[in-house]
Amino acid sequence: MDQREKAFGWAARDSSGLLSPFSFTLRANGEEDITLKVLYCGVCHTDLSTIKNEWGNAQYPVVPGHEIIGVVTDIGLKVSNFKIGDIAGIGYIAFSCLSCENCSSNFENYCPKLVPSFNGTLPDETTYGGFSNKITINEHFSVKIPENLPLPGTAPLLCGGITVYCALKNYGLNRPGLHLGVVGLGGLGHLAVKFAKALGMKVSVVSSGGKREEAMKILGADSFLVRGNSEEIKAAQGTMDGIIDTVPAVHDIVPLIGLLKTHGKLLMVGSPDKPLELPVYSLMSGGKSIGGSMIYRRREGYARNAKVCCCTSYNSRSGGGANGLCQYCYGAT
Ligand SMILES: [Zn+2]
Ligand SMILES: [Zn+2]
Repeated sequence: MDQREKAFGWAARDSSGLLSPFSFTLRANGEEDITLKVLYCGVCHTDLSTIKNEWGNAQYPVVPGHEIIGVVTDIGLKVSNFKIGDIAGIGYIAFSCLSCENCSSNFENYCPKLVPSFNGTLPDETTYGGFSNKITINEHFSVKIPENLPLPGTAPLLCGGITVYCALKNYGLNRPGLHLGVVGLGGLGHLAVKFAKALGMKVSVVSSGGKREEAMKILGADSFLVRGNSEEIKAAQGTMDGIIDTVPAVHDIVPLIGLLKTHGKLLMVGSPDKPLELPVYSLMSGGKSIGGSMIYRRREGYARNAKVCCCTSYNSRSGGGANGLCQYCYGAT
């Protein structure tokens, strides 16, 4: 008997950006698989870029969504971390080989065989994401979510949040007292400010002028620089230990490099669809570097830091903490 379950989602059929109803069949729940009933799903810029085929890799129909929170409704015989009724989270990764050099050092995010949890191809299925009512995944690529977390605000941590957290940690920009610039105040930038403040850092947001109040009053940034304001940018030259640049569009990075101290690091976590100009002399003249980071190390990102910061709504201040951080946010390493 075919044990595969029917599922329903919202799919893009072309690059128009429109989603429409879509029925599909889940793969049979395997021995190491869990199946979730989806409760919440965040919206990441990768979803938008993919459904519009901005990177040329859309495999229509595309059911987006890779910041997924759900309740476990089925488990395979070998599943050890979950039981039926648990709350589980799924991020960007649906499969990695678990044996290559990257996987062996817990950098599954750089596995050459990585398959994403949506718009991906596994041997026996296409992966459809969390804009759906059910999803099946190997338990290794899911994480247990503590039940006391506010679940809607936890979903964006599963890609956006953990992406910026891991970038800061892996480049050593996670220490109290360091001065961090956050460029762009969309989803990634919003969460980068929260993490950096929770980690005890000084934070300057570099964005368009309309975001000043959001950055300083709601998220608790220490200062705000308007990206196109040369006076403000000039006054902050050489003051930042690092910058996390979240802008997913072509932009000028020369002024940003100028904001860095000697040996400062510029971390790129947004993905423009065209190459940026690289100002080599600006890097050389201050011993500065540019690095990149993509999504997350599952091991450190998920399990240990599930309580980092789950408040993404603006009213979270009523939850208690300063700087818009709720009682679940923490300031640890
Ligand atoms: Zn691998
Ligand atoms: Zn994402």
